[in-house]
Amino acid sequence: MGDAGSAPMPQRECGGCTLCCKVMGVNALNKAPGTWCAHCDIGAGCKIYETRPDGCRNFQCGFLTMPELDERFRPSGCHFVVNATAQRFEIHVDQQRPDAWRKQPYYSWIKQMSRRAQARKTVAMVFVGRRCWAIYPDRDDDLGIASPRDQAAVKLVDTVGGRRFEMFRIPGGADTSATE
Ligand code: SF4
Ligand code: SF4
Repeated sequence: MGDAGSAPMPQRECGGCTLCCKVMGVNALNKAPGTWCAHCDIGAGCKIYETRPDGCRNFQCGFLTMPELDERFRPSGCHFVVNATAQRFEIHVDQQRPDAWRKQPYYSWIKQMSRRAQARKTVAMVFVGRRCWAIYPDRDDDLGIASPRDQAAVKLVDTVGGRRFEMFRIPGGADTSATE
């Protein structure tokens, strides 16, 4: 997914990153998260740039689109990719650096995002391959290893800290292609 998308912020470019081509799944290529895409020239770009799938073409990571993310958040350096939209807040972590998201300043920022996600009636998520966590302002909930057949549901829940949105994984069955 390197060199992805159009109209990034001025002065923000993928450069030699390409981490999204490893950590994220690409349905059109049957590419699982956490494995390098066969078309990736690692550290350089996409070898099929002109004909890459629409999912790659349209993708822009948070480093390219969120002014609040400085150079410390360049994916090739921080070892995770931010995938943020109005209804989605996901961190996709390099499996070779599975604790990268727990380091500072990243963890504090992810907690800030968990509050922002709540305001948008959703939940911040961290993925390390198929392992996933729901991130709340006061705790991280390990949801285990997800199969592509699983579904996710966000529900409004009463907790000791008040009402909030929580994420639930609904198992859809075993997946023999899971990488973790
Ligand atoms: S097709 Fe190209 S842009 Fe898409 S994941 Fe593979 S290398 Fe990256
Ligand atoms: S993770 Fe972001 S900066 Fe890195 S190649 Fe992908 S879109 Fe570009």
